[in-house]
Amino acid sequence: MHTPRTTLCWLRRDLRLGDHAALAHAQGAGRVLAAFVFDPTLLTGLAPDDARVALIWHSLLEIRQRLRALGSDLAILYGDPAAAIPRLAARIRAHTVFAARDYEPAARARDERVAALLAADGRALELVKDQVVFDTGEVLTREGKPYTVFTPYARAWRARLSPADTGSLAVRLAPDAFLPWRDDEMVSLATLGFADNPIGRAHAGEAAAAQRLAAFEAKIADYHAARDYPAQGGTSQLSAALRFGTVSIRALARTALAHDGAGAQAWLNELVWRDFYQQLLWHFPQVEAGSFKPAFRTLRWPGEEAHFEAWKTGQTGYPLIDAAMRELLQTGWMHNRLRMVVASFLTKDLLIDWRRGEAHFARHLLDFDLAANNGGWQWAASTGCDAQPWFRIFNPVTQSQKFDPDGAYIRRWVPELAALDARAVHAPWQAKALPDGFLLGRDYPAPIVDHAAQRERALALYGKQP
Ligand SMILES: Cc1cc2nc3c(=O)[nH]c(=O)nc-3n(C[C@H](O)[C@H](O)[C@H](O)COP(=O)(O)OP(=O)(O)OC[C@H]3O[C@@H](n4cnc5c(N)ncnc54)[C@H](O)[C@@H]3O)c2cc1C
Repeated sequence: MHTPRTTLCWLRRDLRLGDHAALAHAQGAGRVLAAFVFDPTLLTGLAPDDARVALIWHSLLEIRQRLRALGSDLAILYGDPAAAIPRLAARIRAHTVFAARDYEPAARARDERVAALLAADGRALELVKDQVVFDTGEVLTREGKPYTVFTPYARAWRARLSPADTGSLAVRLAPDAFLPWRDDEMVSLATLGFADNPIGRAHAGEAAAAQRLAAFEAKIADYHAARDYPAQGGTSQLSAALRFGTVSIRALARTALAHDGAGAQAWLNELVWRDFYQQLLWHFPQVEAGSFKPAFRTLRWPGEEAHFEAWKTGQTGYPLIDAAMRELLQTGWMHNRLRMVVASFLTKDLLIDWRRGEAHFARHLLDFDLAANNGGWQWAASTGCDAQPWFRIFNPVTQSQKFDPDGAYIRRWVPELAALDARAVHAPWQAKALPDGFLLGRDYPAPIVDHAAQRERALALYGKQP
């Protein structure tokens, strides 16, 4: 009797069952078993209640439940993928393991190891594009080189785009499409050494991502006007869903393309920024370790440790900075405008190495993504390829007045300032009058540095570089 060929689909940053490149390709090659591997090297050092682990866990449970309804399962494994994946592939006699291509240096090294071990056993690892609209060599300059400036990259990206690039990669959810299976290894969050986290749980799963996308679609027309005002909630907050692939980038691009108008255009542009940073990391993996611009690689940052602590905990005395840093600690998210402002403040007001800020974000952001985070930090620190010029330095007070004009965002995250009026709340130390009983330096810190003086120091520091 003919036995159908089996394939293994290794889920990583694509935790969903719909519009799924690796699953669609795997189904074209046989009956599929889906698997996920918790890699101890990635879990080491995370807080025991890390929201991202909970997000992954609950997303996996949703997938598992749906696959069990089809008589199959999601194999949830723990260990070095270089051992776990070839072992499982051998066990089910999968000729090919399918997975979505990952652009991070460590993931690339891991995938090369897995591919070599599979090959030694007569099997193949096939990596397919899923995480971005265009990857690796798909958008290059006329000379065949990677773009390092966003605007021409975005132009070329849009010129290349056809409906096929954003079409849904359909997955057949039928019992005969999946391998009959019952996972017997039963990893649990507790056995992984992690506790549940309500924030991770709230962001988990394909259904939640679809709801978030539908809610955003209703206001996409206003995105261009609302996107810079943190109190307005005008952005999609889909970054964690995209990071873990509970929604596909193609679904987001289709949504943007289905709407006319400046809002949808501006949003599509952000999706292009995401592709831009992914391809940058692929072509220039050295950005993970240091400045893209060689001139800034030797820069010595004179900032103080106490200032770094104040920045991390939201105690700098600059209300907008403190509000944003506290929101990050409490929710794992921060608005893009504020990511730019706090990153500029760390590097150009506190004169602290951007890599320390990058690492703090990496620890706390639910949507932490090496390519976007590194790109954002190098942009703000002016060390990146298409960065903010080094002599452009955000003024944290004018940014606050401009983008949180009535102080609503500040008051939400810095309750000590709730009674300050819209003029005083941006810079309490400059206020002519403060509410009765409010004492600066006791109830809220006085500014830890003077922006004007630090600006001059930053200009001197950056200006010294060759
Ligand atoms: C210093 C710094 C660090 C950052 N770190 C990260 C990070 O670790 N992970 C991350 O996903 N984004 C990062 N960003 C980019 C951006 O701030 C977030 O993607 C955005 O705030 C997420 O909110 P949203 O989903 O509501 O975005 P929306 O405005 O709704 O945008 C839609 C999607 O486009 C993508 N996107 C938007 N802006 C950018 C951008 N500038 N670069 C790359 N992709 C973008 C995101 O995937 C986002 O979900 C960083 C930006 C800066 C300045």
